[in-house]
Amino acid sequence: MAKKTKTPEREETFHILDSAHTDPVRLKREREKARALRKTQWWLDRVNRGICHHCGGKFPPEKLTMDHLIPLARGGTSTQGNIVPSCKDCNSAKGLDTPVDDLFRQLEGERQAREAGVAGAADADGADEGEDS
Ligand SMILES: [Zn+2]
Repeated sequence: MAKKTKTPEREETFHILDSAHTDPVRLKREREKARALRKTQWWLDRVNRGICHHCGGKFPPEKLTMDHLIPLARGGTSTQGNIVPSCKDCNSAKGLDTPVDDLFRQLEGERQAREAGVAGAADADGADEGEDS
C-alpha cells in the first residue's frame, strides 16, 4: 500500500448537547467538509464496497448514505474516523442517537425492569386479584 492513511483524529466527545456543537457556523463548515469527503477516493472505495456500517448488509452504492457516527449536532466532525457508509434504514433509524445513547437507554431499561420487578413482583402473574366484595 503506497497510500499513507492519516490517523483519524480521535474524538474525545462528551455526549451532551453543547451550544458550541450546534453552532451554525461550525455545522455549516462540517457539512461542507462532509460534502468534500464525499468526492474523495476514500469515500468512493467505502461506498463501492457496499457494506452498511451498522447492519453489515450489502447495498448498491446509491443506497448508501454518509453517516456521522457522532452526529455533528453532538460535536462530531466530518473526519474519516467519524464518517461511515450507512444504508438508509439504519441512517433514519439512528437519528441523533449515538452508541452511547443506546447504552444508556439499555441501562435505564434494565434499571426500570429491576425496580418494576421488585415493586411489582406479586403483580407479575396474579393478573386477577379478584375483587370479590
Ligand atoms: Zn444498515
